[in-house]
Amino acid sequence: MSHVFHRHLQHTYPVAVRGDGAYIIDQQGKRYLDASGGAAVSCLGHSDAAVIAAVQQQVSQLAYAHTSFFTTEPMEQLADFLIERAPAGMESVYFVSGGSEAVEAALKLARQYFVEIGQPQRRHLIARRQSYHGNTLGALATGGNAWRRQQFEPILMNVSHVSPCYAYREQQPGESEGDFVARLVRELEDEILRLGADQVMAFVAEPVVGATLGAVTALPGYFQGIREVCDRYGVLLILDEVMCGMGRTGSLFAAEQEGISADLITIAKGLGAGYQPIGATLVSKQIYQAIASGSGFFQHGHTYIGHATACATALAVQHQIEQRNLLPQVRQLGNSLMARLRQRFAEHPFIGDIRGRGLFQGLEIVQDRSSKAAFDPSLKVNARLKKAAMANGLMCYPMGGTVDGRTGDHILLAPPFILQDSQLDELVDKLALACDQVF
Ligand code: PLP
Repeated sequence: MSHVFHRHLQHTYPVAVRGDGAYIIDQQGKRYLDASGGAAVSCLGHSDAAVIAAVQQQVSQLAYAHTSFFTTEPMEQLADFLIERAPAGMESVYFVSGGSEAVEAALKLARQYFVEIGQPQRRHLIARRQSYHGNTLGALATGGNAWRRQQFEPILMNVSHVSPCYAYREQQPGESEGDFVARLVRELEDEILRLGADQVMAFVAEPVVGATLGAVTALPGYFQGIREVCDRYGVLLILDEVMCGMGRTGSLFAAEQEGISADLITIAKGLGAGYQPIGATLVSKQIYQAIASGSGFFQHGHTYIGHATACATALAVQHQIEQRNLLPQVRQLGNSLMARLRQRFAEHPFIGDIRGRGLFQGLEIVQDRSSKAAFDPSLKVNARLKKAAMANGLMCYPMGGTVDGRTGDHILLAPPFILQDSQLDELVDKLALACDQVF
């Protein structure tokens, strides 16, 4: 019996022992094509020699120095690297160990900013339904995923949730894209006004929705409209790029493709590509300077913030992506993957929608394509698909979102940027086989 408190207490898991490019190999020697990067993490695959060398080098030189005593070269260099490439207006980077911590830091920075500038009444947060921003209590309260929140509801912060830009289900029949976008932007504005324009602290959204919806991109003009509304009422815009950032959609930051900047941007996952746990919150000049010229101290911190080995690793990961010019490859492989998925699944009776950007793509599973009715959650379609795919040697990320009745199950694909063209065929073949076995 395992003494590990596994998340699913009734499951037995294969034992992963080795990585080889886009594959994970288990104790029996079985190879799994990592078509989801775990959970959109492993953007460089599992055996990148340059990153492994950087980890070894940093550990042997200085593994860790507590940030209340020292700064370190890897942390300074990684911050410079990110700020030089970040959307306009970003000034500094707060390093943490993962995505939930990055979101918590963003929420507390937003709050402290308003306290520092003399607007302590701004404490309301607005996010979107069917969103996921992490599992720590603040991040969980921010997210609008009913299934994840349900049993913790009584102790969560009070956050308002507005509609996501999820055209497949939320756009009304006969409504144009422009009218749909305008309706969503108005919904945010109405919610700000309902709460009191000077009471709202921030609006939080993922540029491309990952875990809860399965690679849902916003329609053109949505994020510009959101940015304008936030600016009109002095509300901060927090973009959560934990899953969609760091090149996953074909640009280093997903916000670049929306043509906007933010006040705070959270990143993690692909930042360290799984070679070390690391996340970060990018902070705008306005927020940084308010705190620097105010109390001069951010009232927040964890033991492992700015971990030297994690920062050196992330720097090596990002250098690899840049030096090997992998972002154009993400765009090109993404187009090939989308074309293959459309070819194989466009007429599939249980695939309602195929969507995404770059190497971040999703298929929504429905029981009936014309009504878009989802499968009953008790059928556990997503869990059965995952099991079938694993049996076929494929890792994909099926999720169910049906608890609030507003979305179906979906499969999220987020393969490594180093994938070969032939591996795209392997991915699609194995996924199609899993679907045939389950449906
Ligand atoms: N934000 C988003 C958009 C995510 O997708 C996730 C994780 O999937 C998180 C935050 C939380 O990140 P972590 O699991 O590293 O805490």
